[in-house]
Amino acid sequence: METLIEVVPAPKDFGNALIGAEEGSDIDLNVRLESVSDGILVSGTADLTVSGECSLCLDPVEFDLTADVQELFVFESAPAGGPEDEADEQYAVENDDIDLEPALRDAVILQLPFQPVCSDSCLGLCSQCGFRLEEDPEHHHEVIDPRWSALSALLDADKQ
Ligand SMILES: [Zn+2]
Ligand SMILES: [Zn+2]
Repeated sequence: METLIEVVPAPKDFGNALIGAEEGSDIDLNVRLESVSDGILVSGTADLTVSGECSLCLDPVEFDLTADVQELFVFESAPAGGPEDEADEQYAVENDDIDLEPALRDAVILQLPFQPVCSDSCLGLCSQCGFRLEEDPEHHHEVIDPRWSALSALLDADKQ
């Protein structure tokens, strides 16, 4: 068994569309590599800081994330090993080496919110004018039903 404690720079696009680790920022890896019968079991954690935008008000959002990593990297199967099922979903040991990056990326993305928010009470922006509702929760627009506006036009016409 081997323990890997290392700080690696975050690769590009390490996250989803709204939030992720900034390229080059630190990822603190603390993983164990264990030889098992059919491969190498990687387990541990990755600590990183992710940043992005609040999906409601677009304010910057930043928080620390600890991603649990647990993946089995299988030894490349012998050619006589039958049909290659599940081959697409598995990580492989290649040339006695493992590429942690894709496994790490999957583990981190899995734990990122799809719609990050700056706070649980974020009110977001007005859907009509983009006004920051936090500054005035009472903010609203008079909504005129189109049928009424047609009527008021008629009344206006009457007056002339
Ligand atoms: Zn917000
Ligand atoms: Zn508005």
